[in-house]
Amino acid sequence: MRYVSTRGAAPVLEFGDALLAGLASDGGLYVPESWSALPEGGRGNYVETAIEIMALFVGNAISRDDLAAMVSDAYATFDTPEVTPLVELHDGIHLLELFHGPTLAFKDIALQMVGRLFDYELDRRGQRVTVVGATSGDTGSAAIEACRDRENVDVIILHPADRVSDVQRRQMTTVEADNVHNVAVEGTFDDCQDLVKAMFADVAFRDQVRLSAVNSINWARVMAQIVYYVVAAERLGGRRSPVAFAVPTGNFGNVFAGHVARRVGLNVPQLVVGTNTNDVLTQFFTEGTMAIAEVVPTTSPSMDIQISSNLERLLYEILDRDGAEVAARLDAFRSTGRFQLNPEHHAALSDNWSAARFGDDIVKDCIAAEADRSGIVLDPHTAVGVLAGRAARRDPSIPLVALATAHPAKFPDAVEAATGVRPELPDRLAGLHDRPERLTRMPNDLAVVQEFVEAHRRVR
Ligand SMILES: *Cc1c(COP(=O)(O)O)cnc(C)c1O
Repeated sequence: MRYVSTRGAAPVLEFGDALLAGLASDGGLYVPESWSALPEGGRGNYVETAIEIMALFVGNAISRDDLAAMVSDAYATFDTPEVTPLVELHDGIHLLELFHGPTLAFKDIALQMVGRLFDYELDRRGQRVTVVGATSGDTGSAAIEACRDRENVDVIILHPADRVSDVQRRQMTTVEADNVHNVAVEGTFDDCQDLVKAMFADVAFRDQVRLSAVNSINWARVMAQIVYYVVAAERLGGRRSPVAFAVPTGNFGNVFAGHVARRVGLNVPQLVVGTNTNDVLTQFFTEGTMAIAEVVPTTSPSMDIQISSNLERLLYEILDRDGAEVAARLDAFRSTGRFQLNPEHHAALSDNWSAARFGDDIVKDCIAAEADRSGIVLDPHTAVGVLAGRAARRDPSIPLVALATAHPAKFPDAVEAATGVRPELPDRLAGLHDRPERLTRMPNDLAVVQEFVEAHRRVR
């Protein structure tokens, strides 16, 4: 299995190299050189199907036994053997709960696997890395949980001091692992992100500490997310029986995995993209255009994104895998702030993609109404997906699966404002407020942070 860059000018890599590289050297994203075919079968067992699907993309890079061991281990961290339970809401509309992992959001599904893949590949090569990241709250804890206790990885996460919620901070700082370090920067999230960028830009430093990231453009994250689309179809009638999906979207990584599932043979007549007020993707699918806009804060902060990095992977498909054309289009987009699909490409997309946007008021009403109707409490991201699915569904005889991307207790303020009830943390986080915290507070100063990273990574 070989991987090519969406911009066509980077080396073609095997799975392990694409995994560790993340971004391609030409600025593109890695995708498989060709699509495998998904065989029939599958019993809706998460671990079984995950091994089968990931084996299609890993190729010979990892033996079946080693892959199986990593998959079993990764999904044993979830609080149910179903990993992603499927619950019917009404009229053939189902919720696929992707929030049963250690940090209560769907990113655990990919990151629990990617942390183990990193460690495995580094071990094989006798290498180590230092993962550094900035977080405004949620991504940091998922990265920490993914990297904790991994032999060849140290992880250092920067968050803005006093500017993340209590639960978010504690999810990061109460992790007891020698290779996990939390830095509270006296500044904003943007300051944290600037510090991380500056560390990557300092080539001598980057090489010396072997800096790395587990960000959402990594192909392995998309790969791990394909699995739950296939598992949902298996549980509803089989891989060849039609299922539509509705997906709340930010960076387009989750729904792109659904597109790959369809590409390899899952019967998905409709993928519905749900956006909040930051609706560039809805524009893209409904009008065939994109215009760069300011990001507006909403009650679904993990979707407050205006440039969705994974859209580049779809663009590569739309433009018949012409990497030079992708690069030219993206350059033009960057310089003009505008993007326009050719009408025939846009028309072809409309066959099996839909999109809709919803503002915070409608999201709040949806959470309240669903809690009243069924007692099921949606988080604001999930509500965007459910709303989009209901609005855009074309064929009510085909089941529609809305992806539930976060546990309601992860966004308690928005949920309480809608329902009047503050959602409780699940049992696995019950002791969160009593556990000791470990964090180091420091000024917004690159030299100080770099010194900390050098001093705390493990050297062998
Ligand atoms: C990250 C995230 C999303 C958006 O997923 P993308 O892959 O970036 O589209 C949606 N909901 C929640 C809760 C998230 O954490």
